[in-house]
Amino acid sequence: MRAMSQSLIDHRGPQFAQLLGEVLAGLKRVFQTSTGEIILHPGSGTGAWESCVVNTLSPGDRVLGCVNGHFSARFCDTASAHGIEVQRLEVPYGSGVSADLVETQLRADTQRQIKAVLVLHNETSTGVVTDIAAIRRALDRADHPALLLVDVVSSLASMDFRFDEWDVDVALTGPQKGLMLPPGMAILAVNPKALKANQSARCARYFWDWAPVFERNARGEFPYTPATALIFGLKESLAMLAEEGLENVFSRHARLAEACRRAVKAIGLNVLARKSAEYSNTLTAVCMPEGFDSDAYLAHAQRTLGLPLGPGLGDVKGKIFRIGHLGSLNEMELLGALAGVEMTLTSFGVSIPLGAGLAAAETYLLQTAPGGLGQGR
Ligand code: PLP
Repeated sequence: MRAMSQSLIDHRGPQFAQLLGEVLAGLKRVFQTSTGEIILHPGSGTGAWESCVVNTLSPGDRVLGCVNGHFSARFCDTASAHGIEVQRLEVPYGSGVSADLVETQLRADTQRQIKAVLVLHNETSTGVVTDIAAIRRALDRADHPALLLVDVVSSLASMDFRFDEWDVDVALTGPQKGLMLPPGMAILAVNPKALKANQSARCARYFWDWAPVFERNARGEFPYTPATALIFGLKESLAMLAEEGLENVFSRHARLAEACRRAVKAIGLNVLARKSAEYSNTLTAVCMPEGFDSDAYLAHAQRTLGLPLGPGLGDVKGKIFRIGHLGSLNEMELLGALAGVEMTLTSFGVSIPLGAGLAAAETYLLQTAPGGLGQGR
């Protein structure tokens, strides 16, 4: 917050050019890429979908859209809005996208008409992770030339995502999740194959056009007025991530997420994600017990304790609630949120063993405390 509240600088001056160079290099480290280029627009995650689509595809193209929740459906809607034919691979809410199913669909495309595979690394509406490395292997096994376009909005800088190693062509995000910033930017990593596709892509574009961004970035500026204050913040959040170390950031998220899931299970509720290997480490979607409406519960939690939980979206509206646990988060904050969940569920009329969730989370956090149990003496 302090980094963002300093006086603004000339966004065409030398100080800005240096700042831009630093954040582009820092973002490459977070995407784990040395061959990819970074595109930074003012915008949001939705803008990042649009930037990705219009820069790599043409009206009339066909893509394979993997839909396992609300946000993946909207990524596909973005493509449809630009006249792209989306072949939807529908997966039940609560499941990740099966690489085998992707491979089958790609093998069936003998004419090689599918130009891209659209997939989310982490489906924020269900708390489910898809194994992107496996999806890449599916493309390779099918020997299919489609681009791999991956939404990492709720995974980047919180869960391990390897742009180069997994040979992703475009990865896209916003600043407001793992990067710990206010909303207001669309951030993409694009590899040489995507840059090549960009040259022949015919979707109409002006604001989102990558070419002028690259051209002007090379001179340390943008073709439009950038979100300078957010870029100040980005420099600081990248420094915070580097200071903690990406590996430690990932394990902190894994540990807090497991504590959250143990708490949920200890009070007798179920998580929506079906397989433990697909549990998200950035949020937990919790099934509301039979007979209770989760939207009414959320309103109650907000009204009584000011506790902001995420609602069920799309097919699971009214059936689940979501506990977010990503970004700048520690044990105390998580435990506070879990206590709030227990208290508000109880006052809403759901019968749970009050305190059992906290006890399960505390026990796990103590067992896995860095440095070991009892080392504080
Ligand atoms: N993709 C995912 C996975 C998301 O979770 C979200 C929003 O939460 C979006 C895209 C859309 O991003 P925005 O709301 O910043 O436009």
